[in-house]
This record gives sequence, C-alpha cells and structure tokens, in this order.
Amino acid sequence: MKKSINRRDFLRLGAAACAACPFTTATALAAAGDDDSRFVKEAMHYEKLKDLRIRCLLCPRKCEIADRERGACGVRENRKGTYYTLVHSRSCSGLRPDPIEKKPFFHVYPGSLAFSLATAGCNMTCRFCQNWEISQFRPEDRDSIYAPPEFLAKSAKRTGCKTIAYTYSEPVIFYEYMYDSAKFSREQGVGNVMISNGYINKKPMVELCKVLTAVKIDLKAFTEDFYVKMCGGHLKPVLDTLVVLKEQGMWFEIVVLLLPGMNDGEKEIREMCQWIRKELGPDVPTHFSRFYPTYMVQNLPRTPIKTVEQARNIALECGIHYAYVGNAPGHPGEKTYCPKCKNMIVDRVGYHVGRVDIRDGKCTNCGNPIPGLWG
Ligand code: SF4
Repeated sequence: MKKSINRRDFLRLGAAACAACPFTTATALAAAGDDDSRFVKEAMHYEKLKDLRIRCLLCPRKCEIADRERGACGVRENRKGTYYTLVHSRSCSGLRPDPIEKKPFFHVYPGSLAFSLATAGCNMTCRFCQNWEISQFRPEDRDSIYAPPEFLAKSAKRTGCKTIAYTYSEPVIFYEYMYDSAKFSREQGVGNVMISNGYINKKPMVELCKVLTAVKIDLKAFTEDFYVKMCGGHLKPVLDTLVVLKEQGMWFEIVVLLLPGMNDGEKEIREMCQWIRKELGPDVPTHFSRFYPTYMVQNLPRTPIKTVEQARNIALECGIHYAYVGNAPGHPGEKTYCPKCKNMIVDRVGYHVGRVDIRDGKCTNCGNPIPGLWG
C-alpha cells in the first residue's frame, strides 16, 4: 500500500536540497509539475489488448491494465490504449557522484565515481527497503527534477564520473529513461551500471544488456516464501535474470542482504551458493551484507558480523572465488584476494580503495587473470 506524506514539507526540503546541489543547472531544475509532458513517453515493452486494455511485458508481474489505470509499480499508465511511462527524465533522488563501491561493485573500476539517480516507484514491496521513501511512492508524491539523458551524461563528465548509476529505487520501472540515457552516454564515453532487484522479463533485459556496462542484482533470499512474504515478488524470475546476464556476457555482481533469522540459515546460504557456482560459475562476486532495522522491519537487530562471515565462508567452500562481507567497514572480507596465490590484490575499507595490485586484468604477484572491469 502506498503511504501518504506531507507533500508540502517534502517539496520544501527537496527544493532546498536541489538548490544546494552543485551538479544541477537552472535548466534541469526548471518546473517539474505533475502533468509535465516532458516526463511522459510511450513505454517500450507492452502489448495492446481488446477494449483499450494493455498488458505490460516489462516485468514478471505482467500487469493487465484498463484505460486510465496504472500498473502495480505506479509509474506507468494506460491512456486510451497506449501505455506510457510517467518518469522519463524525472529524477527524484541523487543526481550526485557516489563511490562505485557504495553500489556495491567491487570488480568495476575500483575507486571510481558513479553519477547516481533514481525515480519514484518499484515493482516489489520489500518490507525492509532502505529506500522506501522513494521506492514506495508514486512520482507525483515526490519532488522531481527534469534530468534528461544529455544532462546526465554532461553532469557525469563534469563531476569526473566514469559511469552513470541507475540505483536507489528500482531502475526496471524507469526502463525507458535508463535505456535512452545509457544509449546516449555510452556514445559520449560514459559507462552505465544498473543496481536492480532483477525482476525483469528476458526480452527487455537482453535489449538493455546492449547499452549497459555492468549490473548488480539483489538476490533477496533463496526461498520462494521469503520473496512472497517479504518482497511481494517471486524467486524464480530473479534467478532467470541472473542466467540471462551470464548468457549475455554482461558483467554482474550479486548482493545478499542477510536479515537475522529470516534468510540467513546455513542450509539456505549453502543452497544459494551451490546454485550460483553451478549456474553462473565461480567468478561472480557475491556480497553478503548486514541489515539495519528500517521501514517495516524494526523488530530485528542488526545482522551480527559473524553471520556475514559465516555466509562468506560457505561461499568460499562452495567454490565461489570472490565472496565479500558488506556494511562492515574495515573487515578483511571487504578486500579482494587472488584465488590462486591468496595475495590481497584490492585493499578496501568501506568505500575507500587503497592499493590495487591488478595489472592488465591479472594479479601482479602470480599473473592469475582476475575477472572484472579494471581499466
Ligand atoms: S513494470 Fe510495472 S506495470 Fe509493468 S508489469 Fe511490472 S509492475 Fe506491472
């Protein structure tokens, strides 16, 4: 269920934040009203049905929508039998450089910056969402900035970002915006990374792979029960997306947020790691992150360090070469080790990257190839 908010306060705070942002321009900040036609573009993946109805083919929900209705994500609307996104170029969060380690990507240009943005909306309803204040709202309930693809590419370049990151909420639901931006900025020499729940159908994902540089997928658990009860989604489509990414040769990393007593059982983690090793291979970086109480899940404690350590150990035992702990700054499990000679080859503390002992994609000590994007 969508939450109500004090819109006046939000707009006031949002406007102040935008005005303070050194990366925005007067043009980009120009009026962004609810009915602004600049945000409305025909959707890319849907089919027309009888009686002005349509079926959205973007994500596994496959919403069937009557005229003047919206899909479950709240950002796509049927207008007289044509389906539209309402959030093209409609950024409501970020528009600033973030360390790429924050996403987290550990094998993608370590120490670089990613120009980050999001729109309102999501196609899941995770009860523990860390960005629920944007993901669980409709676009008209959030302050928005007109930030078209050209603006994103220019801003990324001006702020020294190697990539643009589609992040915070769920980029699948602002697919057309991400696609157009990635296509444009790629031609300008800026990379594009998607931080996603992986809840997307095969065809749109394959098309997107042609313009993206790397993808991070949140694998929320390895049980259908958790996906249904805690996320309002299903496990199988997410696993299918991981396989598609592998088939497409896309660089991707997996993050698993461990909630105490919910999805951190040894058996579940082992089954997950065995699946990753078997279906995706040993070289997919797999991050086990600590949960902090948030949104609707305030009754659980922070994930103990030993839980993420144990999950990382299980992953290594299962043959995953690059297993990490997350949200544990300073932990040795944040660093990258060569699976052959065991030397530390990327030193990290939180979002800070120190020494990188990888040259031409190989460990400088033993010459073992280290998969990733290091250039
Ligand atoms: S993207 Fe939105 S409208 Fe389309 S199927 Fe998914 S939830 Fe429904």
